[in-house]
Amino acid sequence: MAVSGYADTQLLINGEWCDAESGKTIDVVNPATGKVIGTVAHAGIADLDRALAAAQRGFEVWRNVPAHERAATMRKAAALVRERADTIARLMTQEQGKPVVEARIEVMSAADIIEWFADEGRRAYGRIVPPRNLSVQQIVVKEPVGPVAAFTPWNFPVNQVVRKLCAALATGCSFLVKAPEETPASPAQLLRAFVDAGVPAGVVGLVFGSPAEISAYLIPHPVIRKVTFTGSTPVGKQLAALAGQHMKRATMELGGHAPVIVAEDADLELAVKAAGGAKFRNAGQVCISPTRFLVHNSVREEFARALVKHAEGLKVGDGLADGTQLGPLANARRLTAMAKVVEDARAVGATVATGGERLAGDGNFFAPTVLTDVPLTADVFNNEPFGPIAAIRGVDSLEEAIAEANRLPYGLAGYAFTRSFRNVHLLTQRLEVGMLWINQPATPWPEMPFGGVKDSGYGSEGGPEALEPYLVTKSVTVAAV
Ligand code: NAD
Repeated sequence: MAVSGYADTQLLINGEWCDAESGKTIDVVNPATGKVIGTVAHAGIADLDRALAAAQRGFEVWRNVPAHERAATMRKAAALVRERADTIARLMTQEQGKPVVEARIEVMSAADIIEWFADEGRRAYGRIVPPRNLSVQQIVVKEPVGPVAAFTPWNFPVNQVVRKLCAALATGCSFLVKAPEETPASPAQLLRAFVDAGVPAGVVGLVFGSPAEISAYLIPHPVIRKVTFTGSTPVGKQLAALAGQHMKRATMELGGHAPVIVAEDADLELAVKAAGGAKFRNAGQVCISPTRFLVHNSVREEFARALVKHAEGLKVGDGLADGTQLGPLANARRLTAMAKVVEDARAVGATVATGGERLAGDGNFFAPTVLTDVPLTADVFNNEPFGPIAAIRGVDSLEEAIAEANRLPYGLAGYAFTRSFRNVHLLTQRLEVGMLWINQPATPWPEMPFGGVKDSGYGSEGGPEALEPYLVTKSVTVAAV
């Protein structure tokens, strides 16, 4: 049952779109209306076995395609993604909720990411090492690791797949992804672009179903040589442990709890615009979302007033409606989670300066929320809220802000606003994060590394570093005879 142009989603196995052998499906719900808009096929073990066999065959073919030709096919896929951006964005908004303008940016940046990886794959060089004996040649060869199993979440249905997919394809690996059951149609369109661009059968595969069942089957399976996951820290730890047990390489892009340090010499207008914009993008359901606002006490009240004004000025609504700046939360679990975060913050003495409640009507709408005077004991200052809630706390010095930023086990993104070189120097040296943006919002361009430290995971999904985990190294020494 597909309504309003939304398509039912099938599995992609061996280059063909198909239903699950069992015929089982899962309903897909539009979070702006609460209505079922379509279905997605629910793969069982028999489907996974077929997908794994195809991934193995696809790998044997793709690894033997020269990097230059792989790049050309990827570029064709990028062009198709661009051509289809409006359609893919509308599918994404219907299943995920984000404003269609944001969805379109996500799709267009996917095309940019594909092109960047296509080029970078042509530069995945080995090297020649000067030998100790001149009749010998010493060569270091980089080879694709093998078929990759990827697990991606619902917050950026296309972006979370594309970085993993491109690192795999650029290096000559085949790629089997379990994409999110709640937002299946837009990632399926991403893979369709690669099929239509001429990627051989089995090189890319797509399954949906029960996440725990699929990861428990794919990760230990001998066909799979590399695992990559984006999602919460607790699930990431489980999957990393399973990968470790089976000696599989793993990249883990997990939760974050980004500090936003606003120094006494900050450009406040810029800080509110940049951090406020980033905070409510995708309704805060972003691993690098600014979360703990640590604001110097001399400017705290002024900053809080301006952030409240920013939040209250946002137009909340269905992501397909003109002018919407904040859509619904992607699923009902997030609504429950937001209500709990606010209740807990109130109970420990924080002030709800604006928002703090679900909005009336159908759909998972939650008011953009600013909490002030938040004690460190509040849940929101300890666990990733993953929603449209900004929590502000005053600090007396940059050192205090840095200590608070580093207190939690998370270490993904960090933001800071200051005009002083000394502050920039301290922040750069001391903040325990994988990505730091100073005096600006996040710009996760594909050429820059993307990933976390500590409990936020390991590995990078951007920059040349993103290719390494998909390559194995072979050292070859040849003597002349
Ligand atoms: P969750 O922790 O159950 O799931 C998070 C993601 O992991 C989902 O995509 C889910 O399908 C997948 N997943 C869960 N168990 C799995 C398993 N055993 N094997 C393979 N995949 C599995 O919770 P949720 O309610 O979907 O999301 C809430 C939390 O997840 C948020 O609070 C946030 O911390 C985290 N999250 C993080 C990101 C990110 O970009 N890092 C994205 C989405 C969700």
